[in-house]
Amino acid sequence: MPAKHRLMCYFGCMIDGPLHRFPDPKTENLESIQKFSEWKAVLDGPTQERGDKYIYNHIRLCNKHFLESYQLPSRRLTKNAVPTLNLNKVVRVTEQLSPSAIGTLDTGK
Ligand SMILES: [Zn+2]
Repeated sequence: MPAKHRLMCYFGCMIDGPLHRFPDPKTENLESIQKFSEWKAVLDGPTQERGDKYIYNHIRLCNKHFLESYQLPSRRLTKNAVPTLNLNKVVRVTEQLSPSAIGTLDTGK
């Protein structure tokens, strides 16, 4: 089945590899829920606010963000896999926050 709308890694990586869906947040499996929140923590604020369903349906992460020990030969991830590598969220957020923007945030509270 040809993929018309090709999903990209959330971090925009230009690699041709498997993309990994978030753990299912709508499960009764506590481990999966816990893992979902750990994955979610690597996303920026506005993306997190779009909600768990949006994240589960639309956000994918590529292999670059997972230790090799989390990657199985089947191109899937181990059950305890958590993204820990190449998470440039912090850099991006810092770039957006100029001193004046921070002042605006303070008065807005
Ligand atoms: Zn990536």
